[in-house]
Amino acid sequence: MSDKSIVIDAIINGEKYRAKEQDPRKNPVHPDEVVGYAPLNTKKDTIKAIDVAHEAFTSWRQSSIDNRVERMKKAIQTIKDRTPEIAELLSREHGKPLYDSEGEIGVSLAWMEFACDNVKEVLENNVEEHDNGGKTIIARDAIGVISAISPWNYPIALSTIKMAPALLTGNTMVLKPSPLAPLAVSKVAEIIADEFPPGVLNLVHGDADVGVELTSNPKVAKIAFTGGTETAKDIMKSASEAIKLMTLELGGNDAAIVLDDFDVEDERAMRRMVISNFLTAGQICMIAKRIYVDRKIYDKFVDKYIEAANKWIRVGDPFDDNVTIGSVNNKKQVEIVQDLIDDSKSKGAEVIKLGKVLDPDLYDEGYFMQPTVVLGADYHDPIVEEEQFGPTVPILPFDGDEHALELANDSIYGLTSSVWGKEEHAIKVAKHIQAGTTMINTAAVQGLDVRFPFGGVKQSGVGREYGKEGLLAYTETHVINLPNDLDLPYIPE
Ligand code: NAD
Repeated sequence: MSDKSIVIDAIINGEKYRAKEQDPRKNPVHPDEVVGYAPLNTKKDTIKAIDVAHEAFTSWRQSSIDNRVERMKKAIQTIKDRTPEIAELLSREHGKPLYDSEGEIGVSLAWMEFACDNVKEVLENNVEEHDNGGKTIIARDAIGVISAISPWNYPIALSTIKMAPALLTGNTMVLKPSPLAPLAVSKVAEIIADEFPPGVLNLVHGDADVGVELTSNPKVAKIAFTGGTETAKDIMKSASEAIKLMTLELGGNDAAIVLDDFDVEDERAMRRMVISNFLTAGQICMIAKRIYVDRKIYDKFVDKYIEAANKWIRVGDPFDDNVTIGSVNNKKQVEIVQDLIDDSKSKGAEVIKLGKVLDPDLYDEGYFMQPTVVLGADYHDPIVEEEQFGPTVPILPFDGDEHALELANDSIYGLTSSVWGKEEHAIKVAKHIQAGTTMINTAAVQGLDVRFPFGGVKQSGVGREYGKEGLLAYTETHVINLPNDLDLPYIPE
């Protein structure tokens, strides 16, 4: 164990619980360095966490909204105060630059604050007065125990997106982060759990084995999952026996459509385009993963894109202020992305390296990948059809807006998308894209707004997070009916 490595414990019923076995999380930039240890929890630990969450639900669901908000606000303040420490830990276990980790915590806090500010309005009873004197109360009830399962790419944002609305609306939770970035998010979960009564927020660690218990246990009422589409298929099967509610935020293969009236000389727009492909080394669900450009401006676009990318991309140590892109999070992800690039090359595509590698020795040591652009791929090559989830992007030409829409919509995914060009023209095209979100002249997290619902269509997900919908997703509609005509006239005496 290195001096700076930490040990994370599970949290069950407000108590820290040290598991028998620990899983070392290594720094992807220095793969020999252990950043910390996360517990390898067992099925038994997981059942215990679910049981205590189930017990805590009875009283927590009756707590006042003001009480819940006050507790969450205290947690928000502590997370704010401890942001430098948490961001540093996140960058060390993840490989992304410090500004990116701070940005992730910033988005998480903005969402938690929005959830606090809006939960009262969302939970307010809606009362319908009937003409004949009866009335109906439409209440929003808490659901019960929520199993929250999050991925490694934005571990804090994609866990707080679940913790804040679930707890504020009166549910209890068991959270399981990814073993590939378990440490910083656990610090955030500890801070939140400390402010709430025992059993309201519980934390366990592990991989699919723990995940299966969390998704099949009959005491779990809802699953809030962010991760891969294939994993979600397993989860749906696992949950089917006991019928559970689900919010699923899954993979994406977001198209960026560049129209013929896009100004390729607009340097700020080009910078946004490049960032939308390579932020967090491309490991974001909602990043633009295939670029379609109107053939009329294709050549000029490619030149300007490469120019902008060469300016912005500086690959290196996450703690170097000059660095814009850190390492990839894990070796397996490097291999997945490299296989897609090699496949394109073998079919005759041109692969162009972008930007600068600032420290070649460090680059060789860690799981780094210099960003690339792939030109001349076929529309149905794996690099175009699959989610690369890494720092490479194909650019392909299209002939007219209809063709662009056909290509963009020809996907099993539909998370986000973007259209680049004159506003009116772009909106017209945007309306026909099958996606949960479409951004105009920006893309990816640059256009994310926590006040509005976020989620995917097709195999990119079920349900919405963020916005008021993201709070409502943790409630069930409960109709309380007080009819005036208590005896129905058509039922015989
Ligand atoms: P993953 O599906 O491999 O893992 C996600 C989580 O599920 C982890 O905590 C993992 O331990 C757990 N898990 C694995 N098998 C399980 C099982 N059988 N039952 C229950 N839980 C199980 O995904 P990942 O590699 O961590 O994340 C990358 C994927 O997540 C990409 O496809 C990306 O697009 C997607 N993602 C989607 C969004 C979104 O909002 N739509 C956001 C971020 C990431």
